[in-house]
Amino acid sequence: MRIELNKASKIIIKLGSSIIDHRDDMIINGICTNITEFLKENKEVMLVTSGAISQGMKVMDVKNKPKDIKKLQSLAAVGQQKLMLMYEKIFSEHDFQTAQVLITHNDINDRVRYLNIKGTLEELLNNGVIPIINENDVVSTEEIKFGDNDNLASMIANLVDADLLIILTDQKGMYDKNPDSYKDAKLINRIKIEDLKDFDSDFSTHSEIGTGGFITKIQAAKRADLSNTYTVIANGLEKNILNNIFTNNDAGTLFIPSEKKISAKKQWLDTTDSRGSIIIDDGACKAISDNNSLLLVGVSAVEGYFEKGDVIQCMDSNHSCIAKGIVNYSSGDVMRAKGKTTDAIAEELGSEFSKELIHVDNLIVIET
Ligand code: GLU
Repeated sequence: MRIELNKASKIIIKLGSSIIDHRDDMIINGICTNITEFLKENKEVMLVTSGAISQGMKVMDVKNKPKDIKKLQSLAAVGQQKLMLMYEKIFSEHDFQTAQVLITHNDINDRVRYLNIKGTLEELLNNGVIPIINENDVVSTEEIKFGDNDNLASMIANLVDADLLIILTDQKGMYDKNPDSYKDAKLINRIKIEDLKDFDSDFSTHSEIGTGGFITKIQAAKRADLSNTYTVIANGLEKNILNNIFTNNDAGTLFIPSEKKISAKKQWLDTTDSRGSIIIDDGACKAISDNNSLLLVGVSAVEGYFEKGDVIQCMDSNHSCIAKGIVNYSSGDVMRAKGKTTDAIAEELGSEFSKELIHVDNLIVIET
């Protein structure tokens, strides 16, 4: 029994293409039936599903996954409705309604749209509808793609403040070393997020179908930690896996979040793309690591262009990104202020003046 999961009532389940595409329909049927049992126990469940492209490939009889983005997008357009049809059919047999939710990276970058997604998901859950979420591949170009649904699922976990993220794949979970290279690799059944740093970063194992691989699953567990969300990575092809995750300590790998919890706004900051960047001196690096605001005097250089209100990266003198935050000045103003005293800047800017370049509430320090 995994007692830490006893109270998990808001659950995100991510299904990889290897599960959706499995020739045995009973696999996906079994998973969905287990989900309906959770719903009957008053748990809230959201599905993040892959498989639009691979379903499109089946329909259009395409044997090898194309590289061209337009081809992938058109296959996703064909396959997405097949996917929804499949879920609709299975869940309606259990008298549950489903809703299609397609999201792009730009929707997450924009704070208003981000909050709109949150509102819609909550409304669906309140009405007992199962949100079935995928990336809106049809409108996402390579530059703005989430890239993989592990990433998307963890962002949704942050967005709705989920208790548990379950990533179902064709691997049993995380091993202490790469099981493709080492025969004696052992499956880890539970690990604290802060202990992940002790492992070799090459957890990757070969899964042919999805885009993520294993690294992105670990990244997803780390992101879920931001909202104090537990993550389980487990083998979706195993019979009764969703129940086993709760009852059996050996089912998959449980990632235990650290105690800290950061605000919803800071989680969004972590998720969103940044515009330009600034280089800050060692004193400023220390100040922000100690949970202080970033002041203008700490800036050594500006890179790129940004406007007041944009999210920017803060780099140390080695050019490593150590923080992200919402900036109170444009890049032009920061350049003009460089080398001046705080009083001189205050006089120049008048009512526009703000002591902090980035206020501590709008700043997230990136842990390495
Ligand atoms: N959005 C892609 C699809 O539905 C999946 C990306 C992934 O496999 O993670 O085909």
